[in-house]
Amino acid sequence: MTNAITEHTVLNNGVKMPWLGLGVWQVGDEEAAEAVAAAIGAGYRSIDTAAVYGNEAGVGEGIRKSGIARDELFITTKIWNADQGYDSALAAFEESRRKLGVEVVDLLLIHWPVKGKYKETWRALEKLYRDGAVRAIGVSNFQVHHLQDLMADSEVVPVINQVEYHPLLTQKELQSFCRDKGIQLEAWSPLMQGNLDNETLAEIGRKYGKSPAQIILRWDIQNEVVTIPKTVNPTRMVENGSVFDFSLTAEEVDAISALNQNKRFGPDPDNFNF
Ligand code: NDP
Repeated sequence: MTNAITEHTVLNNGVKMPWLGLGVWQVGDEEAAEAVAAAIGAGYRSIDTAAVYGNEAGVGEGIRKSGIARDELFITTKIWNADQGYDSALAAFEESRRKLGVEVVDLLLIHWPVKGKYKETWRALEKLYRDGAVRAIGVSNFQVHHLQDLMADSEVVPVINQVEYHPLLTQKELQSFCRDKGIQLEAWSPLMQGNLDNETLAEIGRKYGKSPAQIILRWDIQNEVVTIPKTVNPTRMVENGSVFDFSLTAEEVDAISALNQNKRFGPDPDNFNF
């Protein structure tokens, strides 16, 4: 493994996606512009936003401010629940593209598996993919049964399933299903929304001179999970990106996985009402 934040996975359609990116949930438009420009300046090449975060315009501004060529960046956005359905998803995508100020979005996701709607939404994503408006399409918050249902009558296999994933929620069954189907797993709230006080992580961190956040992000990558930690703090951006210069042992990876408690900090995809 080389020592670079640009290390990437290859998605099931051949598109390359960095293992590590910046998440921008709960970041305002103006702050997003600064955070994105700072992150790209620190070497990040992947940014994860969503229509519902209300900061796509800021993300777009940050991209332009960074001075890095558009084709070196990997931009993800998502179709919000209220916009699901065929025509409404197409319209929502146009709005996202306009706000971001980009011609092509690298990765477009269905944000949540809204019952009775997500298959129609997927057909809209398939059209955008065929038209070349997006380089890859995927889903978020899909359980195994949602994926089985979607794939039973669709043409394109999602490239990604972005789900809550961290040492307290290791999603073993979902990860192995996705691996079998060629669907790359991606971790949201990888840093447990900042709840990093854990002795196992601290102890492993002391051995390598790394923080608990860095130990988790390294564990993500060694588990072949794409990860998108959020921070607006430039020092932490560098910290979170500095995880390509050491390796955990197999025993350490297992010890971190053994922290699992099936604990969610966010909503349950089988029981949400938004
Ligand atoms: P994270 O697990 O990434 O944690 C972010 C929190 O940790 C912030 O409070 C941040 O504070 C703090 N933090 C960041 N780095 C460090 C560090 N090195 N040491 C200590 N604290 C740190 O939370 P998110 O929920 O934001 O998840 C990440 C991204 O995943 C989101 O931003 C979004 O892009 C995506 N997401 C997707 C969802 C979906 O449904 N698809 C749902 C939720 C998130 P500070 O900013 O002050 O540094």
